[in-house]
Amino acid sequence: MTTIFGKIIKRELPAEIVFENDKVLAIKDKYPAAPIHILIMPKKEIPDFQSLKPEDYPLIEECFKVAQQIAAQYGITGGYRLLTNNGSLAGQTIFHLHFHLLGGRQLGTMG
Ligand code: 5GP
Repeated sequence: MTTIFGKIIKRELPAEIVFENDKVLAIKDKYPAAPIHILIMPKKEIPDFQSLKPEDYPLIEECFKVAQQIAAQYGITGGYRLLTNNGSLAGQTIFHLHFHLLGGRQLGTMG
C-alpha cells in the first residue's frame, strides 16, 4: 500500500529533499526530533526492515552510503544515530522502510 513516503517519492506530496538518485531518497523529517533529522529510504516500497529480502540488500547498502555522505555534508560525523523502527511496537508509523539519521546535539540513551 502506498504511504506518505510513497507519495513523496512520486512527487504527489511535497518534502524537503536533501538527496536523490534512482534508488534512494532522503528528506528532512517534518517533525524533527533533533536539529538534524533526515529520513533515508529506498524508493522501492518495502514496508519495514523485517520484510527485506536478500535481493533488496543492495538497497540497504545504498541507504547506508547515502547516510554517510549526508552525515559528512551536515558536519555531524563526530556523533549521530542511524536507526530504523521496525513495527508499531518499536514506534514505526509509516510503513515504508526508512532510516532516521539524527544528530546535531548530544543524543540521549536508547530505549
Ligand atoms: P517512523 O515513526 O515510521 O519510524 O518514522 C516516521 C517519521 O516520519 C517520523 O519521524 C515523522 O516525524 C515523519 N513524518 C511524518 N509525516 C511526515 C511527512 O508528511 N513528511 C515528512 N518529511 N516526514 C514525516
